[in-house]
Amino acid sequence: MYYMGVDLGGTNIAAGIVSDRGEIVLKSTVKTPEVASPEKIALVIAELCFEIIRGAGLCAEDISAVGVCVPGSVLPEEGIVEVCVNLGFRNVPFGHLLEARLGKAVKLVNDANAAALAEYAAGAGRGCQSLVMLTLGTGIGGGIVINNRIYSGVNHAAGEMGHIVIHQGGEECKCGRRGCFEAYASATALKRLTRDKMKENPDSVMWSLAGSLDSVGGGTAFEAAARNDKAAMQVISQYTAYLASGITSIVNIFQPEVLCIGGGLSGEGETLLSPVREILDREDFARNSKKRTRLVTAMLGNDAGIIGAAMLPLYDI
Ligand SMILES: [Zn+2]
Repeated sequence: MYYMGVDLGGTNIAAGIVSDRGEIVLKSTVKTPEVASPEKIALVIAELCFEIIRGAGLCAEDISAVGVCVPGSVLPEEGIVEVCVNLGFRNVPFGHLLEARLGKAVKLVNDANAAALAEYAAGAGRGCQSLVMLTLGTGIGGGIVINNRIYSGVNHAAGEMGHIVIHQGGEECKCGRRGCFEAYASATALKRLTRDKMKENPDSVMWSLAGSLDSVGGGTAFEAAARNDKAAMQVISQYTAYLASGITSIVNIFQPEVLCIGGGLSGEGETLLSPVREILDREDFARNSKKRTRLVTAMLGNDAGIIGAAMLPLYDI
C-alpha cells in the first residue's frame, strides 16, 4: 500500500507517493496559486496528486490515504486549518474540501510536526522512541514525537520551542515577547549577528564572500570561519552559544533519545553541532547519565514535509 503526502507552502506545493517504509516513489512540485481561494488550492492539489499517481503507473485505489502539512495551526480531528498566514486561511475546512476532490480520507498536520514525524519514522531518528526536532530557518520550528505519536498539546499548538525566552528583555520577537530563542538562533538571527560583526570589521573576509550586507546568507560566517577569519569565528562562537542555550533547556525538559536539527544551516553538519555538543556536555542536567540525547542533523531535507504528512495514518495520531 502507498500513501500520498502533500507539503502545502506559500510558494510551492510539493506532493509525493510514499511507501510504508517512508521512501518517496515519485514526487512533483507546482507553484502555489497567488491570491487563490481554498477551493482553488484544493483543486490544484487534487490535480497534482492524480498526475503523480498516473506518473507512477498506479491507480487511485493503490493510495490508502492522503496527508497534508501546512505552515500554520490545524485541528486534525475537524480537518480544519485554523490559521495559516502565508495562504490567508482562517478556520478553513480544508481537509473536507480536499476529500471531496480526491475521494480519499485527508489528514492535516502542521509542517514542523510533519518534519519531526518524518525524521522519527524514516530519517535521522529511525528506530528511536523519542525525538525532538528543531528547524532553523526564518524562525525556529519545532516538533515532538514520543512513542509513535506527535505530541501537539491540548490545542495542537505545542512544540513552539522557538519561543522559549533565553534572554529576558532581549531582542524583539514576532510573537510579541522579547528574548526568544528564535530571535537569537534562527537563520535570520545568524544573518543579523553576521551583519553586525561585519560592520565592526571592515577587513573581514565576510565582506568579500557576501559582497554587501544585503547579500549576507546563513552560510557567510561559516565559510569565512573555515578560512580562519577571526570575526567570522566570533560570530559562529556567539551563534552556537545561543543555539546551545536553547537546546540545553529543551534537552533538560524532554531528554529525548534524538534531538534533530533541520533547516538550511544543518548542512554545516559537525561544524554546527560540535560546539553545541561541547556546551551540552557541560550543562545538560543529565550529563552524568549513561544514556544521553543524540544530537544529529536531519536527513530528509525538503522531502520531510511530504514524507511526514504521508506517514500520518501509520502513526497513532
Ligand atoms: Zn517569540
